[in-house]
Amino acid sequence: MTAAAPAASPAPPQVLLAHHLRQLKLPTFLREYEKVAAEAAREGLDHVRFLLRLAELELIDRERRMVERRIRAAHFSAVKSFDTFDFTAIPSLNKPLTLELARCEYLIARDNVIALGNSGTGKTHVGLALVLVACQRGFPVSFFTAAGLVHQLMEARDERRLLKLQAQLAAVKLLIVDELGYVPLSQTGAELLFEIFSQRHERGSTIVTSNLPFEEWTSVFGNQRLTGALLDRLTHHVHILELNGESYRLKQSKARRRRDPRPPDEVAAAADPETGEIIRAS
Ligand code: ADP
Ligand code: MG
Repeated sequence: MTAAAPAASPAPPQVLLAHHLRQLKLPTFLREYEKVAAEAAREGLDHVRFLLRLAELELIDRERRMVERRIRAAHFSAVKSFDTFDFTAIPSLNKPLTLELARCEYLIARDNVIALGNSGTGKTHVGLALVLVACQRGFPVSFFTAAGLVHQLMEARDERRLLKLQAQLAAVKLLIVDELGYVPLSQTGAELLFEIFSQRHERGSTIVTSNLPFEEWTSVFGNQRLTGALLDRLTHHVHILELNGESYRLKQSKARRRRDPRPPDEVAAAADPETGEIIRAS
């Protein structure tokens, strides 16, 4: 369109446009405008429709970038979704309630969710899937394991930045505390965690997953009074998901073993003693 300009002449309009679009933070506009202009010319679109098409592309991309940013900020342990969750594998789980929660209305009501059940039954998977849909709907989210959160709180306290971390944790719309119960907490750890649940009470939603039924939570917090007060706050407005059944991993590896032609003792020797998962392929 324009001839190669001598060094002293003003920059070609494309260069200026690229600069302005970067300044305005419209990367999709910049990437797509030539292609969309060619399409518009082919289809005989007027200027308004040309701009509309570009603006729509920018909006779609911006939404996608925002979801990605929220997922990164949430520090997911892994990305899991309901698309890969097999409800038939866990009949104890209330599917209608779970799908209702996936609509995120509990976040507006500031309700909590507690997922209880033995190991490997999909509690973390469901928790992560709920966190993913929350990110997709635009809610700020934070993901921690209980041990990881307590560790961070203790570290923040030692470094005199506890108030800042508490304020950050109180501000997220959804906090997920995974795997409460695997590690007993020190008295300070239990008190710090209690404070977080307390500060979030009726301000934002918290999802807790635990392998322990409520009656056994005292063994984690080491203190009956504290556990009572914590349960009182956490279960005030709560949806409880029960995932009791056989470990999904164990069931899968049993199915694999059924397909394995080797004698059972040879297969057992190659299986992880805890999960039953086959660890040595031969
Ligand atoms: P938990 O947190 O209850 O110990 P996880 O959610 O970590 O269990 O599940 C263990 C593994 O099995 C994960 O890889 C998870 O994705 C998978 N899993 C568990 N339940 C299901 C299910 N119903 N459908 C699909 N994958 C599942
Ligand atoms: Mg888990």
